[in-house]
Amino acid sequence: MSSHVMPTYFNQYPIAFERGAGAWLWDTEGTPYLDALSGIAVCGLGHTHPAITQAIVEQAHKVLHTSNTFKIPNQEKLADILCDISGMEQAYFCNSGAEANETAIKLSRLYARKKNIENPSVITLKNSFHGRSFATLSATGSERIQKGFEPLMSDFIHLPINDIEALQLTIQQDPNIVAILFECVQGDGGIHSVTSDYIHKIRALCNEHDLLMMIDEVQTGIGRTGQWFAYQHHDTWPDVVTSAKALGNGIPIGACMVRGKACHLFTPGKHGSTFGGNPLACAVGLAVIATMQKDELLAHVQQVGCYLRQQLTQAFEHHPNVVDIRGRGLMLGIELNRQAMDIMSIGIKHRLLFNVVANKVIRLLPPLIITTKEADDMVMRLKCIINEFVSDN
Ligand code: PLP
Repeated sequence: MSSHVMPTYFNQYPIAFERGAGAWLWDTEGTPYLDALSGIAVCGLGHTHPAITQAIVEQAHKVLHTSNTFKIPNQEKLADILCDISGMEQAYFCNSGAEANETAIKLSRLYARKKNIENPSVITLKNSFHGRSFATLSATGSERIQKGFEPLMSDFIHLPINDIEALQLTIQQDPNIVAILFECVQGDGGIHSVTSDYIHKIRALCNEHDLLMMIDEVQTGIGRTGQWFAYQHHDTWPDVVTSAKALGNGIPIGACMVRGKACHLFTPGKHGSTFGGNPLACAVGLAVIATMQKDELLAHVQQVGCYLRQQLTQAFEHHPNVVDIRGRGLMLGIELNRQAMDIMSIGIKHRLLFNVVANKVIRLLPPLIITTKEADDMVMRLKCIINEFVSDN
C-alpha cells in the first residue's frame, strides 16, 4: 500500500480486490467474498455486468469526452429517461452525490432570490448525510462529519426525523426557510426511514409556504429500495431529486432533477461541470436503467429484499444482542445493542463484505441482482459473525 495516499478513511482493511462477478469479489489471493456492500450502494448490477462492460467498451471506441460546450446526445437521452422514471422535468449532470446535492442547495439560493429572501435557510434532518463538500457537510446532520471544519455554512436547521410538530413550528416561525432537504431512508445515519405521514406533511407545508421539497436519493435511488426512487413508495412528488452512486454502477456520475417551480432557476452560466454528463458516464447510466428495466429488477428487489428481511428476522428476532432489523428493499440495517465498528473485521474473516453505520448498525447494501440462495448464504454468514462478535465483546 502506498504511504503517499492521504489517510482520510478509517477501517481501510489490508485486502484488495482483483476481480468481481455478480455479487462476488475475489482478493489478490484468489479468495472469494460475498459482497453485501456494493461499493456503498454503487454496484447495483453487481460486478462486471456484461451490459455495463459492453457500454463502456463501445463508448470508449467512439468518444469519451467532448465537454458541455457541445451537444451530448447520450446526456439528452439519459435526461429523458431519468425524467420518465422519476416524474421530474429536467436533469442536470455532475459526477457525485455531493455535487448533486450542492446543485440542489444552489437551486434553493436562486429560489430565495426569486422570493426576495436575503438570508435563506434550508431545513435538513439530524443524522442525515449529504456529502463532504462545504455546503453538503454543513447540510449533513452529524457533528462527527462537521468537526474541525467550522465555521460551517450557517444556513441549515437540523430537525429530528419524523417530528411533524418541530417541522411545523420551525417553518411557521422562520420566514427565511426556502427548502427542506432529506433522505427517505437515512443511510449513514443508521437506516432510519421517514414515515408516509411525515413526507406528506413536508409536501403540504412546502405547498403552503412555497418551499422546495428536495429529496436526496443518492443512496436510496436507482432501485435500491424496490422503486426507482424511495419517494415513490409514498405517492408524493418532490420538487428536486438528487441521484448518483448506482446510476453509474462504478463510473462516477451524479444528477439533480427538478420539476414545476424548481425548473428554469438555473440559466446559462449559473452552474456547470467539466466532466458532468460526459458521453461515457451517460452511456453507462443508460445501460444501467435499460438493464434494470429489461430484467425487471424493481420487482426482483421487492421480492428478494422481502425474503432477506424475513430470513434476518427469523435468524435474529430472539437474539439477545440484536435490537432491531429495519430498512426497505435491499437497504437493510441490523442494530446491535453495543458499539460494533469492529464487527467488520469479523465479517472479512467470514468473507462477507458490509459496513457499520451509527456505530452499532450493520448496513447491508447487496447488489440488486442477488439471488435468494445468496441471501441465504449472507444470513448464514451473519449468524456466525454476530455470534463471534458478541462472544468476544
Ligand atoms: N447523500 C447520500 C444520502 C449519501 O449516502 C452519500 C454518500 O454516501 C452522499 C450524498 C455523497 O455522495 P458522494 O460520496 O458521491 O459525494
